[in-house]
Amino acid sequence: MKALVTGGAGFIGSTLVDRLLADGHEVVVVDDLSSGADANLDAARQAGDRLVVHVKDIRDPATSEIVAASGAEVVYHLAAQADVRVSVAQPALDASINVIGLLRVLEGAREGAVRKVVFASSGGTIYGEPDPSVLPVDESQPELPIAPYGVAKKVGTDYLRAYRAVHGVDWTSLALANVYGPRQDPHGEAGVVAIFAGLLLSGSPCTIFGDGEATRDYVYVDDVVDAFARAAAAGSENLYNIGTGQETSVNALYAAMAANEAVTDPPIYAAARPGELDRSCLDAAKARRELGWSPQVTLEDGVKAVLDWSRSR
Ligand code: NAD
Repeated sequence: MKALVTGGAGFIGSTLVDRLLADGHEVVVVDDLSSGADANLDAARQAGDRLVVHVKDIRDPATSEIVAASGAEVVYHLAAQADVRVSVAQPALDASINVIGLLRVLEGAREGAVRKVVFASSGGTIYGEPDPSVLPVDESQPELPIAPYGVAKKVGTDYLRAYRAVHGVDWTSLALANVYGPRQDPHGEAGVVAIFAGLLLSGSPCTIFGDGEATRDYVYVDDVVDAFARAAAAGSENLYNIGTGQETSVNALYAAMAANEAVTDPPIYAAARPGELDRSCLDAAKARRELGWSPQVTLEDGVKAVLDWSRSR
């Protein structure tokens, strides 16, 4: 099969590119390298002419032509402005990339021979602030996003539904939990695992905002990429949560990572940052039933992989 991956030079996208190439597919990447990096594709380039890379902003109308002319059967749409705080500060910028950019890709999909679009949605934001009594959240929860980023991710699935109805392009949306793994940018707000890894390896103290009891659902990037791969052939016209169902506090995450490095220093605590969810956790039973997907990598093994990767650089 030939697949096209937008955002294919990013953290998750480049890991997906590696997986698709390893599975024997041809891959076309569209990425403007704004938060991704060409170096993330170093391993993928060993595939020779099975990999084609277009450095292109998805907002550019020429993106539709690239997608249509690519001959891709499946489009994985991961390119995005992926920072919630940027979306709050610059909602029009967020919408231009995450809504208009998606439409450029979808226009190309319907003009070309694309059978299916698989979309990276966000389980941590599309449901807004669910009542703690419904955690872990399943897909029956109302989608009530409170950040512009979450609004764009919700609307992304609405557009996919519309393109299926009007143009017949199949789709699957994957509502991802907090993804972590090698290649994650330690400078963003989302990558607490990458941030802690960098600080622990440089012998610097780690700062935890708030009391450290806020929880997230940390899912390893290889498991996430496996869900994308499965969605090429399953899960038509559906949204799936992709998470572990396990809540991990920031304190517990720090403890697991510090233990791996035999660091006994406690973290530094600073004032909580406004606007952050207290608890977040996804129920992925639907993905287990309908995609045959379940997470395989434990938090201990996953953070060890991140620390080993960071050490090797
Ligand atoms: P990332 O920033 O590493 O990847 C995004 C990629 O998109 C980058 O390579 C970037 O250069 C590219 N990009 C950004 N704007 C672009 C534009 N205008 N034109 C072309 N390319 C552009 O982030 P990631 O963590 O790998 O996220 C991948 C996808 O998964 C995103 O859609 C993100 O919203 C979604 N997601 C991520 C997480 C997470 O925990 N990392 C959680 C939920 C959803």
